[in-house]
Amino acid sequence: MLRVSDLHVSYGRVTAVRGINVCVRPGAVSLMLGANGAGKTTTLRAIAGLHPPESGEITMEDQHLERRSADRVVTAGVVLVPEGRRVFGPLTVEENLRLGGYTAPRDSVARELERIYEIFPILAERRHGPAGLLSGGEQQMLAFGRALMSQPKVMLMDEPSMGLAPAIVDKVLTQVRAIADSGIGVLMVEQNAKAALEVADDAVVVARGEVVFSGTAEEARSHSSVVLAFLGET
Ligand code: ATP
Repeated sequence: MLRVSDLHVSYGRVTAVRGINVCVRPGAVSLMLGANGAGKTTTLRAIAGLHPPESGEITMEDQHLERRSADRVVTAGVVLVPEGRRVFGPLTVEENLRLGGYTAPRDSVARELERIYEIFPILAERRHGPAGLLSGGEQQMLAFGRALMSQPKVMLMDEPSMGLAPAIVDKVLTQVRAIADSGIGVLMVEQNAKAALEVADDAVVVARGEVVFSGTAEEARSHSSVVLAFLGET
């Protein structure tokens, strides 16, 4: 449903992404692996309309997204959960969630809030408290919830487990799987390759702005270069 073809993205004279192709299917998790600086964040930001690509196509169903502003990418059904979660600490949990619903029809906001409180009961308990007092794992739930408020078809997730304790990482990845199982397509960048491959359906590996491996998560787990680069010698 979301298709990225031959994407090129530059920062001035530095080309960060050179011809990336990736597909995100409804209900599936596509994992993007790669070393620091490989171009993963740049790819997500280009899809999200935060950095215009030099060339290439980004299509969501039959709509072209490559020249759209970020808010119009959200209305096409594609939302970014940024690296570092970026919750607004002084605002309450509920105010943060409402920010995510700014493109949604006003009469659907209350219903969406209730739906998110059912998925993440801890957010309901803390709804009137400042988001800055949530733990890292809870802030990641809030970041997911805020993105879900726009009723997306595809979620782009940039390192959702970053900075979280190992015990929480598995919980977050279980939530990612549950989000996909609800029918949403997920494109996730993650450093925790081994754990992330457990919940992923498809995987691409990016190096120096290019795709060097593309296949199922199962194939990635047994592909020698992926094993060597990301999974250790187990
Ligand atoms: P990381 O895991 O470190 O976030 P990444 O795979 O997400 O890595 P990007 O952040 O997309 O990589 O960076 C790709 C390339 O683009 C790198 O060479 C980086 O130095 C460069 N780059 C990223 N952001 C900018 C910017 N704002 N201005 C100039 N160059 C940038």
